[in-house]
Amino acid sequence: MDLVFATNNQHKLLEIRKIIGDSFNLLSLKDINCFDEIPETGNSLEANASQKSRFVYEKYGLNCFADDTGLEVEALNGAPGVYSARYAGEEKNALKNMKKLLSELNGIENRKARFRTVISLIINGEEKLFEGIVTGKITDKESGTKGFGYDPIFIPDGYNITFAEMDLQTKNKISHRARAVEKLANYLKLISK
Ligand code: IMP
Repeated sequence: MDLVFATNNQHKLLEIRKIIGDSFNLLSLKDINCFDEIPETGNSLEANASQKSRFVYEKYGLNCFADDTGLEVEALNGAPGVYSARYAGEEKNALKNMKKLLSELNGIENRKARFRTVISLIINGEEKLFEGIVTGKITDKESGTKGFGYDPIFIPDGYNITFAEMDLQTKNKISHRARAVEKLANYLKLISK
């Protein structure tokens, strides 16, 4: 069965292809000649993921899934959350985003945070949502050079290094995205039997 992953991120695509295996022909947006700027105007991760998968399903008539991720900080009532990518402005600059977050948390003792990924899957018009969470804490300063986004200031629970100091293999085993994708993959395996 053809299944579109509403992304142009080759890294995410490869990662998911590895997990899902051969039972689905996984296609990217480029593969289906979709070059639209897909709207992401929701005010929750669920709303944005749904908006993206529904857009592809309705325009192309193809089964599809889409993800959306945010960093939710307890002391900031869940911010930056759905606005994580553009926390410090529309240019979506990771360094500026981290600086802003560290400055918002300056002097605040509660550093608890979590990454949350939501995946919306639409098969024959029916939607299913999958969620993956990794809990941890925000550091006082950036540390490490691997990964992307907020990785240099996030220490996952059970570790004493940031995501940016961790090798990618370890991060990919415990990450929010990996956990959501695992749930998606289990479901896809079930329905492809
Ligand atoms: P997206 O929904 O995967 O595009 O993620 C939205 C934003 O959340 C990104 O631009 C990053 O700022 C942040 N983010 C998502 N996943 C990660 C991660 O694994 N590490 C660090 N930051 C992330």
